[in-house]
Amino acid sequence: MPNIPYKIYLDESEIPSSWYNVRADMKTKPAPLIHPATLKPMTFEDMRPIFCDELIKQELDNDTAYIKIPDEILNFYKMYRPSPLTHAVFLEELLDTPAHIFYKFEGNNTSGSHKLNSAIAQAYYAKKQGLKGVTTETGAGQWGTALAMSCSFFKLDCKVFMVKVSYEQKPFRREVMRTYGASVTPSPSMETKTGRAINEAHPGTTGSLGCAISEAVEVAASTEGYRYVLGSVLNQVLLHQSIIGLETQAACRKYNIKPDIIIGCAGGGSNLGGLISPFMGEKLRGEADYKFIAVEPASCPSFTRGKFAYDFCDTGKVCPMAKMYTLGHDFIPSANHAGGLRYHGMSSILSELYHEGLMEARSVEQTSVFEAAEMFARVEGILPAPESSHAIRVAIDEALKCKETGEEKTIIFGLTGTGYFDMTAYEKYNNHEMTDYIPTDEDLAKGFAGIPNVNL
Ligand SMILES: *Cc1c(COP(=O)(O)O)cnc(C)c1O
Repeated sequence: MPNIPYKIYLDESEIPSSWYNVRADMKTKPAPLIHPATLKPMTFEDMRPIFCDELIKQELDNDTAYIKIPDEILNFYKMYRPSPLTHAVFLEELLDTPAHIFYKFEGNNTSGSHKLNSAIAQAYYAKKQGLKGVTTETGAGQWGTALAMSCSFFKLDCKVFMVKVSYEQKPFRREVMRTYGASVTPSPSMETKTGRAINEAHPGTTGSLGCAISEAVEVAASTEGYRYVLGSVLNQVLLHQSIIGLETQAACRKYNIKPDIIIGCAGGGSNLGGLISPFMGEKLRGEADYKFIAVEPASCPSFTRGKFAYDFCDTGKVCPMAKMYTLGHDFIPSANHAGGLRYHGMSSILSELYHEGLMEARSVEQTSVFEAAEMFARVEGILPAPESSHAIRVAIDEALKCKETGEEKTIIFGLTGTGYFDMTAYEKYNNHEMTDYIPTDEDLAKGFAGIPNVNL
């Protein structure tokens, strides 16, 4: 590929001016969120006590393909976008593969991840509505950081419930959030009804995302002028993250790059959904074909071993129910170093696409993920986040397959962030102390038992 620069930087003027809503091109729309009491689809009014008005509209909009990005958000995007699409020539050389590998790097901002793309949008709409502040949960801390940055930009209060294990393991993440003015509470806390109940039922628990979500929702619903915001899973978040895919598509068009395989790690599905959306749109409209691969940890295998069913989005069951691939809202994955991939469920949009066979999924074990991370860091320079390294693993596997078959495929993967706050995990890996825990069918059965019996 002679005429392609190592790093493709679009101009500022080439940042897309609209987000792309893949639901508009889906024949079967993702199943709606439903009210746990009535089992009826959640209406605008049902959601108003919890979410911001404009974001509810985006959540419910299955038909508008392009939604204009407000100028205030576009201006903020210019601080760190467009993000580069890099031709991983050094990795190709190392692997001695005929494949062409590219990665879209989203780690070049203080949150160290793609989360800022949606955080700034959500903070903007909250501000525009005249709210005082927002509440949220954070696992690994990237989302909390992104939201803290966005709230400080728009002068909103920001209350973050941080999964206790991360709060303790990643004190510096916490301090970054506090530097941006957010308050950070370890979850489960004693400040909410749900938190107290979970602490009582599971003394000494180190928490989970599902549990932190319940706490954040409870505080938003009971505090005047506050709403709850979520960093993944929801349709609106995939919409905002489509900026990743739209820029990638623009870069590909500019340099005549034709991807065969597009790969992303999947926690709740936002970066993967954002990266693949415009390409999936082409596939759905019959204009092109791509192979899409979602990569998840073997310790939290929502797609590859989960059930496609209505389930609660949180442990405390205060949220609406979503139809998704799920391990059950009570499922607490074993300690795994990819904190951002430990959610029990998955985006309804991606769940529907996967269910229809339009996308594949793979699960990978964490030591093989860190092997891939090390290889990548040593040749491409960037120290990847453990989450992102799941995508690197499968990109390498696919490139090695090309080496066997001699096929010259073009592979694009999402490099969602950097791993500077994950050095405890790298330390474990470097000391050869990292283990791979794969839940048994019995372990999973316990989570499945909690999935409500809803057949719609
Ligand atoms: C949160 C996070 C993920 C996973 O979340 P998705 O919503 O599935 O994208 C992946 N990588 C990084 C760096 C993250 O912070």
